[in-house]
Amino acid sequence: MSERPTAVALAGAAGRMGQATAAAVKGAPDMELVAQIDPLLGAQGIAESLAGADVLVDFTAPDAVLANVKAALAAGVHVVIGTTGFDPQELERLATDQPANVFAAPNFAIGAVLMMRFAAEAARHMAGAEIIELHHEQKLDAPSGTAKRTAALMRQAAGGEVPIHSVRLPGLVADQEVLLGDLGQTLSIRHVTTSREAFMPGVLLAIRSVAGLPSSPLIGLEHLLWPQG
Ligand code: NAP
Repeated sequence: MSERPTAVALAGAAGRMGQATAAAVKGAPDMELVAQIDPLLGAQGIAESLAGADVLVDFTAPDAVLANVKAALAAGVHVVIGTTGFDPQELERLATDQPANVFAAPNFAIGAVLMMRFAAEAARHMAGAEIIELHHEQKLDAPSGTAKRTAALMRQAAGGEVPIHSVRLPGLVADQEVLLGDLGQTLSIRHVTTSREAFMPGVLLAIRSVAGLPSSPLIGLEHLLWPQG
């Protein structure tokens, strides 16, 4: 007998990422979209919307996400966070030792996760590095969560600060270039996102994985793609 589909509630459902996520969840045979939460879609509160949900997916805004996480944890609902720009220490404080799990990823695109991995490896061998992140002009946070996470991974691997430059222009989705320099040479690692579909396999993987995480909160898609490191 087949298991019942995972019931997914989606916060930020009317936004750019929310609309792409709603379509991806509706297209997944093992998932059911049970609630779409967004000020633009009506006034129903988060607590009512979470009734019957197994997982809350949040693609809202830096000043909204933690209240949603708090409500979900209070209701025993697992959380997948795609929103960036919040304080990770605050998440740690909220989500540690809770019966429900929290998974967050600053970037759900496989190419971006590989970029971060290669950048951390390259940082061990090159004298200096800088990050240029380029996003659409309506993005609320700068630098991006991906750039901050890349810099943290490079710092962890090789020490030293990695400066970040932020570009905001219409026409862009979410791009990043990591430039590394050494005597007489440069290395460029560049990830370009042309459509929000790039993030959807990662979002669906996180929804399928969040109930069984080894620890919570867990940050970074790499932990789900390569659990052995
Ligand atoms: P967006 O188009 O502005 O969408 C956000 C939506 O959330 C808006 O409709 C907003 O409504 C709604 N919202 C605000 N507060 C809410 C609340 N308390 N409950 C429910 N909905 C609420 O933004 P976006 O481009 O989709 O990006 C959303 C987030 O995802 C950003 O933090 C962005 O950096 C991040 N992101 C992550 C990834 C990743 O791979 N992890 C990829 C792309 C983007 P109002 O407009 O009425 O405020």
